[in-house]
Amino acid sequence: MTTFTYTQAASLSEAGALAAGSDAKLIAGGQSLLGAIKLGLAAPEALIDLSGLADLKGIRLAGVHLVIGAMTTHAAVAASKEVQQAIPALADLAGRIGDRQVRNRGTLGGSLANNDPAACYPAAVLGLGATIYTDRRSISADDFFLGLFETALQPGEIITSVSFPVPTKAGWQKFKQPASRFSLVGVFVAQTAAGVRVAVTGAGAGVFRAMALEAALDAHWSQAATMAVRISPAKLSSDLHGSADYRAALIPVLAGRAVAACP
Ligand SMILES: Cc1cc2nc3c(=O)[nH]c(=O)nc-3n(C[C@H](O)[C@H](O)[C@H](O)COP(=O)(O)OP(=O)(O)OC[C@H]3O[C@@H](n4cnc5c(N)ncnc54)[C@H](O)[C@@H]3O)c2cc1C
Repeated sequence: MTTFTYTQAASLSEAGALAAGSDAKLIAGGQSLLGAIKLGLAAPEALIDLSGLADLKGIRLAGVHLVIGAMTTHAAVAASKEVQQAIPALADLAGRIGDRQVRNRGTLGGSLANNDPAACYPAAVLGLGATIYTDRRSISADDFFLGLFETALQPGEIITSVSFPVPTKAGWQKFKQPASRFSLVGVFVAQTAAGVRVAVTGAGAGVFRAMALEAALDAHWSQAATMAVRISPAKLSSDLHGSADYRAALIPVLAGRAVAACP
C-alpha cells in the first residue's frame, strides 16, 4: 500500500517550502495525480494540498487580459460569464473536459502542470499566447510546454494564475477519444494582436503550434484556407486509437471547423 503524509497548506509560501522536498507533490483537484498514485506511476511521500488557498481561485478581467487562478476548476471556467463573454472558446473548452466529476474537481493549474499530451487546456494556453504566473516568475506559453508530461516548472514551483490575452476571435474543436474523453486531436485557433496562432493537442508528445496553418489563416481567415494545408505525420503519435496519418488528416479539418465555429 502507498503511504504518504498529507498537509493542507495555509499559505502559498508554506506550500512552496513544503513542496521543495524531493519526495513531495502538490495536489490540486487530484484528478490526474490520484490516478497516477493508484497505478503506481507516482509514489510521493508527502502531498501538499493547495485547495485551501483562496488567492489561487477566481476569474477576473484585467484590461485586455482574462486572469484565471490556478485552482479554478474547469466547471467554474465553463460557467463564468466573464469567460463566456471575453473568450467563449475557452469556456467551451473547459465545459467539454472529461465528465462532471472531473470538471468539478480538476483545475487549470493542475492540467498545465501535468501537461498530458492529450490535455485540452494546453492548447488554449499556447493558442492564445497566454502567460503562466508562478510563485517565482512568469513564463510565456511558448516556453512552458517542453514535451511529454514535461514543463518549464522547477521542483516545488507553484502555478498561481494564467493571464490570457483576449483575442479578436478564437475557436476550439476537439475530436474526443470516447472512452477517456481526452483529445484524440484538439485544435485551438486564435486571431491575436500578434497574428494568428494555432495550437494542436493529442497528436504528438505534447501540445505544439501548427505554423503552416497559422500562415494559411494569416493570409486568409477561412475554413477553406485550412483545407489546403497538409500536415506531415512524421512526428505525430500512432496508437490503438488512431495512426499518425489519421491524426495528420484530422488537424486541418478540426482547424477549419474551429474557424467556422468562431463567434
Ligand atoms: C476520467 C477523466 C477524464 C479526463 N478528461 C480530460 C479531458 O477531456 N481533457 C483534459 O484536458 N483533461 C482531462 N482529464 C484530466 C483533468 O483535466 C485533470 O483535472 C487535470 O489534468 C489535472 O488537474 P488537477 O487539478 O486534478 O491536478 P492534480 O491531479 O491534483 O495534479 C496534477 C499534477 O499537477 C501538479 N499541480 C497541481 N496544481 C499545481 C499548481 N498550481 N502548480 C504546480 N503544480 C501543480 C501536481 O503536483 C501533479 O503533478 C481527465 C481526467 C479524468 C480522471
